[in-house]
Amino acid sequence: MWDYVVGLLGIRKQDDYVKNYIEGSNMKAIKYMCAFVIFVETWMILRIVKIVFIGGEQRTVEWIVVHLRLYVVLLISSSLMMWFAVTYGKGKKRSHVIVMTWKIIYSIICVVFGIYVSYLDYIKGEQIMGFLTMILFVGCLLVWPPFISLIILSLSFGIFYIMCDNTVPATVATDINMFTTYVAMVMVSIGNFRQRLNEANKDKGLEYVSRHDELTGIYNMYYFRKKAKEYLRESQSLGDTIDLIYFDIVNFKNYNERYGFEAGNELLKEIAQTLKDLFCNGEVARLSDDHFIVLSKEQLPERKIRLLQEKIYSRQRDVFLGLKAGIYRTDGKKKEGGEGLEDINLLCDRALFAVKSIKNKTDIDICYYDEAIYGMQKRKNYIINNIDKAIKEGYIKVYYQPIVEAKTGKVSSLEALARWKDPNLGMLSPGEFIETLEEFRQIHKLDKHILELVCRDYCMGCELNRVVLPVSINLSRLDFELCDISFEINRMLSEYNVPKEYIEIEITESALTKNREDLDKAISEFKNLKYNLWLDDFGAGYSSFNVLKDYAFDVLKIDMKFLEDFGENERFEPIFVSIIELCSKLNMISLAEGVETEEQYDFLKNCGCDRMQGYLFSRPVIMDELQSMFKSGKLEA
Ligand code: C2E
Ligand code: MG
Ligand code: MG
Repeated sequence: MWDYVVGLLGIRKQDDYVKNYIEGSNMKAIKYMCAFVIFVETWMILRIVKIVFIGGEQRTVEWIVVHLRLYVVLLISSSLMMWFAVTYGKGKKRSHVIVMTWKIIYSIICVVFGIYVSYLDYIKGEQIMGFLTMILFVGCLLVWPPFISLIILSLSFGIFYIMCDNTVPATVATDINMFTTYVAMVMVSIGNFRQRLNEANKDKGLEYVSRHDELTGIYNMYYFRKKAKEYLRESQSLGDTIDLIYFDIVNFKNYNERYGFEAGNELLKEIAQTLKDLFCNGEVARLSDDHFIVLSKEQLPERKIRLLQEKIYSRQRDVFLGLKAGIYRTDGKKKEGGEGLEDINLLCDRALFAVKSIKNKTDIDICYYDEAIYGMQKRKNYIINNIDKAIKEGYIKVYYQPIVEAKTGKVSSLEALARWKDPNLGMLSPGEFIETLEEFRQIHKLDKHILELVCRDYCMGCELNRVVLPVSINLSRLDFELCDISFEINRMLSEYNVPKEYIEIEITESALTKNREDLDKAISEFKNLKYNLWLDDFGAGYSSFNVLKDYAFDVLKIDMKFLEDFGENERFEPIFVSIIELCSKLNMISLAEGVETEEQYDFLKNCGCDRMQGYLFSRPVIMDELQSMFKSGKLEA
């Protein structure tokens, strides 16, 4: 009950958002009110000027002086209030106390004016419209907590009634009229307040959703950018150095898969809260998934990053969890009035770039954006901006590396490998451009292009009566997401009239551990269409044996890292022999990558490895060179 009364009277303390909302709508109302009052008072003053200089209405000098004084006071105070309301919200923010003081002073002036003018009218038997208008403006148009409107209305009506009644006793009809008008106004003012309060709360809810991340409750990227801009402007005008720190949780996806989304969400919430606590003087936001960003003026952010890292480590059970942070630090030069102010999006990109540059480094967790990373970023941007041109202009070529049958030493097929010879950057290694194209989801363009070049070489080989051998092409896991790769391969083969047996498909092991749905579909499609499927880089990833269980590959390419241990590690031999035996048990052809020496060749041959590929036979070369090797007898088909 008490709670209801407290709510009804508006005694409850409102939060800043609601206060600002109501204050804003009051300032708007005041503008209209002042405009109207200024218009009416100017009119009244002109009326008096006319009476004085031209004549017309019969008024005493005393009447003129009293009314002119009243009108002028109201005109001046309305003009001042108008200025205050118009400038409200522009430039420097005004405190609630100042706004309230102005509002109260102006309201008192209006009510006193209304009471006095209408009192003069009443005793002459005229209408009391001045009082009613002013009280309507102040009590109902402006929004007050109900207990204040109750005080304003009761006092105004009470004083006005007593003044009038003492001079000319009010009739019963006047009493009733006054009372009903008073009650009506109280009800309107309470209704008005409640309506504004509801609107403010609704608006607050909507605004909260648009500014905050739904899961963690910290800012979202959209609002972070806005806040960060303000923060940056303020700090840079003082010449402060600022850090933009991009956080990436290592292995979060595996954690999610292993413990479920609920547990993953809990972890994200905990990280968000910790970041908020650690960087309480900065701005903290969640960008997406397991990515967070912080804008901070801390001199040594490393200490806080380590604290968060420890917290994440403590959540670790049987899935490894880690934290990487990329930092972009501003130069700390004074920048005034937005001049030369750095673009927040660019700064976020740089911090992101710094974190990406250490993504695959197990020994580095914190990285500052510097010249070297800038150079890398430039190269990556170049690759992404020029991939279409490189394909069109023929900068990307296909090289072939022979694959040799162990028993006979004859070349049984070729692997197609991409090479980018750029007029500006020179030779780019696949290690560099493939990773970048994958990162920016452009890799399918390259893979389709390489397939086309292979098909063209096939046609030319047939025309020129060259040695024509099956070619294996490398597919990225993203090809299965970015295009209908089995459809594209079919289309290309029929366009160039290339038999299916001529193309073999290499899929890397890492591809099979991610995004299984698209891949499963494509692999069964390849199988149904009777393509040969090869598993590339076996042993380089984590879940090799699951992969063998789930998919029936024709060829198993053993990653060249295995052979690096040849002669160095005594466990190498039994492991390698077991893999070869496994292949024969699963009806797969075994193929060893990276064969560089005669000893390796002999060892592999003796333990039953079916095929080999490596610099011992040939490095990847262009088709013309390969044909010369066949011609000269260096290679045999
Ligand atoms: P990969 O498919 O495992 O290709 C074999 C890589 O090993 C090639 O590197 C080849 O040059 C290198 N290699 C071959 N024999 C030896 C050797 O005896 N010793 C050493 N140290 N290396 C040897 P490359 O051409 O730099 O390609 C690297 C990777 O880039 C490839 O690994 C493949 O995964 C990827 N790649 C190349 N071309 C393409 C392409 O057109 N599309 C896609 N998606 N990936 C490609
Ligand atoms: Mg390969
Ligand atoms: Mg390989």
